[in-house]
Amino acid sequence: MNEIQLHDKHFELFISSEEILTKVAALAKKIEADYEGKEILFLSILNGSFMFTSDLLKNIQKQLEVSFIKVSSYSGTSTTGRVDELIGLATSIKDKHIIVVEDIVDTGITIDKVITLLNASNPASISVCTFLYKPSAFKGNSVPQYIGFEIPNKFVVGYGLDYNQLGRNLAALYQLKETN
Ligand code: 5GP
Ligand code: MG
Repeated sequence: MNEIQLHDKHFELFISSEEILTKVAALAKKIEADYEGKEILFLSILNGSFMFTSDLLKNIQKQLEVSFIKVSSYSGTSTTGRVDELIGLATSIKDKHIIVVEDIVDTGITIDKVITLLNASNPASISVCTFLYKPSAFKGNSVPQYIGFEIPNKFVVGYGLDYNQLGRNLAALYQLKETN
């Protein structure tokens, strides 16, 4: 499939499934080497990172823990307005080596908030492993340590990422066509 339609928009093939799996396996090997002798707790941010997390962890040949969390933001009643919280963090992260697994780091606002919230629980370390990174959109504090692909500032779907909830099941990555 070189071209797909989701809702009203057309997308074209951007990164093939084979290319993705090769890169994800290489990322897994790098993490394995960097964390030799350390136990890792992977925190996968739902919904977008489910497919990336699955492929990544199948390629890591060591004992590890994985847990799935969501980020929610809602308007609180305080004068500061927005309140953010992590949903689903059941296990203690104190003194653990955490790798946060994200689908995409765009402006970096989401991942910065996640790191701030996690740091409050005093883990031994935190790093970020993201499938995609848009350097030209990034305004965050720290660039992710592990990056699958750096991509231009265009909207993408597939491999977990959605357009209005569709497209998450696609095994390849697709980019919005200019002429929609
Ligand atoms: P942030 O700007 O905080 O780094 O990213 C926020 C969220 O925007 C991401 O977690 C992701 O859900 C969404 N996002 C950013 N760029 C894209 C994109 O190109 N495609 C899709 N499907 N979602 C994106
Ligand atoms: Mg996301």
